[in-house]
Amino acid sequence: MKIVKTIAEVRAEVKEWRRQGLSVGLVPTMGFLHEGHKSLIERAVSENDRVVVSDFVNPTQFGEGEDLEAYPRDIHRDAELCSEVGANLIFHPEVSEMYAEGACTMVDMKGEMTTGLCGKTRPIHFRGVCTVVSKLFNIVTPDRAYFGQKDAQQLAVIKRMVKDLNFDIEIVGCPIVREADGLAKSSRNTYLSEAERKAALVLSQAVRKGQEMMESGETNLDRITDAMKGLISAEPLARIDYVEAVNAENIQPVHSTEDCEQVLVAMAVYIGKTRLIDNFIS
Ligand code: AMP
Repeated sequence: MKIVKTIAEVRAEVKEWRRQGLSVGLVPTMGFLHEGHKSLIERAVSENDRVVVSDFVNPTQFGEGEDLEAYPRDIHRDAELCSEVGANLIFHPEVSEMYAEGACTMVDMKGEMTTGLCGKTRPIHFRGVCTVVSKLFNIVTPDRAYFGQKDAQQLAVIKRMVKDLNFDIEIVGCPIVREADGLAKSSRNTYLSEAERKAALVLSQAVRKGQEMMESGETNLDRITDAMKGLISAEPLARIDYVEAVNAENIQPVHSTEDCEQVLVAMAVYIGKTRLIDNFIS
């Protein structure tokens, strides 16, 4: 497995693979890889002849006062994990390689898909995500790209963007990978103190509560999100950013399970200073 830092090197590798008639999968990540990322890479390895993992903390998707500088990084450990699961190439560029001096073109999706849920507190986030993912798609030109359901809004946004901009790429969504006690795996979990780590369990407990209510026949989504909020509010270290039910495809708010084909119940919760997300789809 190779680690490369330039766009030219990625293009040369992919060109050679294409010459041999091989298919290519892409797994975009910000590094500090864990089991969640691993599941995406494994899926990509099982469905493609060659797999590229991008490992890049993308500055354009971080707002002011967010954790861009503090975001954990460990390329050596990432390389070990990628090599173990059979990835072929890690693309690990510098910021100056991805954003050449004078760069001024962004991919800016309009409407509720990017202004709802996480977009409310992170207004420039999805512009950064759409921009960097478009660039990665143009650099790697994969047949398939793999994204986690953990970032359900991101997955919906990317699917929409691929449709809108006619990328000839299949977007594959992969299930949330959790710790044994339920906490969704995240690079940001490393920020949590011991007490916060315990408190963070309210997110997955709220997910379970919502799922149980739905399974026992509750169709009123406001009742479900209210119960979830009640559970989270009882934890002193937790502060709710949002708990909302939306149409999983277009992120429009919904109030009944009968309002759309797939309901996404999503949340963002601060545990101390760390903002964590979790969700379920039904
Ligand atoms: P990140 O490095 O956090 O930007 O995540 C890179 C990709 O891994 C995204 O598509 C995420 O949705 C996915 N991912 C992160 N955590 C998990 C998880 N716990 N389960 C499944 N996918 C995940």
